[in-house]
Amino acid sequence: MTSVEHFVPDAEADTSPRVVAAYIEAYTDVNDLIVDPFCRSPICVTTAVAAGRRAVAVNFSPLDALRTRLALVPVPTRDLDAAATRISDSPKFDMPLRRHLLRLYRTACRSCGNEVIADYFVWERGRDVPSQVSYRCAACGDAGLRDCVEADVQVLKDIDPRGLHYWYVLDRAARQDDEPRRFAAELLELYTPRSLYVLYNLVLKAEDLFAGSTIHDFLRLALLRCLELGSVLNPAPGDTELAETA
Ligand SMILES: [Zn+2]
Repeated sequence: MTSVEHFVPDAEADTSPRVVAAYIEAYTDVNDLIVDPFCRSPICVTTAVAAGRRAVAVNFSPLDALRTRLALVPVPTRDLDAAATRISDSPKFDMPLRRHLLRLYRTACRSCGNEVIADYFVWERGRDVPSQVSYRCAACGDAGLRDCVEADVQVLKDIDPRGLHYWYVLDRAARQDDEPRRFAAELLELYTPRSLYVLYNLVLKAEDLFAGSTIHDFLRLALLRCLELGSVLNPAPGDTELAETA
C-alpha cells in the first residue's frame, strides 16, 4: 500500500477551492490519488479531478455522497429547466400538475378580490390553520402579509390529512410494525397536509418521469431543499416565533 504523504488541514464546507488547489498542486502530481475521508463538501474532489488527480471521498451521509457525486457530473441548466417543465406540464386529474398544485395555494386579493396564488402562508405553532398569507396581486399591485380568511381555511379541506399520499409516504419511510415507523410518523408531523401532498406529488412525478437518470438525482437534491423549506421548522421570513409553510 502506498503511504499517506500529506494531509490537507481540516476541510470545512466553505474552504476556498483555491486553498485546496494550492495544496493539491504543492503536494501531488498528475494521476496521484487524493483521499477525502470525511467529505463534507464536493470541493476537494472536484478540485482534485480538475487538476488531473484521482480522488476517493468517504462520508456516512448518503446526502453528502450524492451531492459530491453530482458535482462531478454537471448537467446543463437547460436540461434541468426542461425536466422541471416536463414535471409541471404532466397531467394531474384534468389539468397540468403545476396548476393543480398552485390552486391549493389560492387566495383572494384583499384589495380587488381577484384570485391570486399565495407566495406562502404563515402558521403559528400549535395551530392547525394558517394565520396569515403573503401574496402579490398582478391585477392591482396589492402585496404583503394579510390575515387569513375563512376561504383560506376552506381550501385546506381539499386535502385529506390521512389520504393516500400520507400512507404512501409513511409506508416508504418504514414498513408496518417496524419500530422506526413511529418515528417516521412523527417526522411527517413536521409538514402540513398541504405541504406533504405537494411534496408527494413532486417526488412521485420525478420518479415516474426520470427514475434511474442523473437528472433524477439532481431533482432529488432539489426536492430535499423543498423538504427543508416546507417543514414547520422553517421560520417565516423575519420572524423566529412563527413557522412558515410554502
Ligand atoms: Zn388585487
